Amino acid sequence: MIEFQTVQDGLAFDARHIWHPYTSLRNPLPTYPVVSATGTKLTLADGTELVDGMASWWSAIHGYNHPRLNQALVDQASQMSHVMFGGITHPPAVQLARQLLAMAPEGLDAVFFADSGSVAVEVAIKMALQYQTSRGKPEKSRLLTIRQGYHGDTFAAMAVCDPVNGMHGLFQSVLPHHLFAPAPQLKPEDTWQDVELDAFESLLAAHHQELAAIILEPIVQGAGGMRFYHPGFLAGARRLADAYDVLLIADEIATGFGRTGRLFACEHANISPDILCVGKALTGGYMTLAATLASRHVADTIGQGEASVLMHGPTFMANPLACAVACESLAMVAEGHWQQDVPRIEAQLKRELAPCRAYEQVADVRVFGAIGVVEMKTPIDVAKAQAFLVKQGVWIRPFGTLLYIMPPYIATEQDIQQLTQAIAAFCQHFA
Ligand SMILES: *Cc1c(COP(=O)(O)O)cnc(C)c1O
Repeated sequence: MIEFQTVQDGLAFDARHIWHPYTSLRNPLPTYPVVSATGTKLTLADGTELVDGMASWWSAIHGYNHPRLNQALVDQASQMSHVMFGGITHPPAVQLARQLLAMAPEGLDAVFFADSGSVAVEVAIKMALQYQTSRGKPEKSRLLTIRQGYHGDTFAAMAVCDPVNGMHGLFQSVLPHHLFAPAPQLKPEDTWQDVELDAFESLLAAHHQELAAIILEPIVQGAGGMRFYHPGFLAGARRLADAYDVLLIADEIATGFGRTGRLFACEHANISPDILCVGKALTGGYMTLAATLASRHVADTIGQGEASVLMHGPTFMANPLACAVACESLAMVAEGHWQQDVPRIEAQLKRELAPCRAYEQVADVRVFGAIGVVEMKTPIDVAKAQAFLVKQGVWIRPFGTLLYIMPPYIATEQDIQQLTQAIAAFCQHFA
């Protein structure tokens, strides 16, 4: 077991030498030393236990240190931890592809195993471009998306993130220029109005000849703003994609595997995309693994093209350890406890976060599936907020103006209560 020489030394070395997500080495923010995690709790080096509100960014849906996932990993490690996927296949990859295709929305029939969510998005975009080239339409090479989206940090993925909060300014000269429709305004509970799709359809009508695909996060926009939108918009996007001969890519990296109350968020609108990205919860938060699924039509069309092969193949493609854990995680999803857990968490979040609306500094409170969001009127000081929340015994990582949680599905009533009380205390303190 690896331990810090001293916690102080570990933190000092970290601050000097190790980048964390979106951080500066000249002006590092504090980090918290976690030495173990079990169930819904993270344990800090000083023994403090924190109730986890983040599920390590949507991924640890079954909680930490789960005996079944641990066993799957140990069993596979004793067989083979990794083998190249070029010219070789193995039981965990075949088994995982079977499970994924069996649970995915109808019509998806082909799987590409990627090593992270961003790469799954890169591959989805590549599929769409190769699809269009293969059918003699290379001019269909741009993408249409909606504002406030988030699709990852690599270049092609970044190019379809929200242009304002998605790093476009900094990398403008090297990013491809795609089309951005306004973010949907109607919430899931609103009454549907067709005008909601007007701007989106206008862009399609004007540009479909140069468009390869529409890419969006179905119903829940995650890191780009934690917004929830009306399923009518998604149903409309599916209909318009067909009408204007462009593919529909659904990025379910955050929403997949039950988080929104349906196995996939696409089900809220009863649609199937042509291409689907999954990641995050795929391995129950154990390993980095993602996948891009495509319809037989997309796969066959790519296969008929001049290039004929899908031009991608990472070194660690279909890593057997990751696939084996994912098989077990998906088996647990298939057993269906999430179908009670997610609505239970949703009801409690709605009940216990609603009073936050009363605080002066709170702009909005919203809950959808096992996702709770409190939006402030002004940006949150992350370091100060984090210290305050850790004192309350919870792990919640604010972002911009947002305080949000998506706890493991196994979170108990008491866990959720501790999280919502901490959020309420923060709102009160902040106001
Ligand atoms: C997290 C996320 C990604 C990127 O996944 P990484 O594994 O961080 O590369 C892409 N799309 C959505 C919707 C996400 O939430």
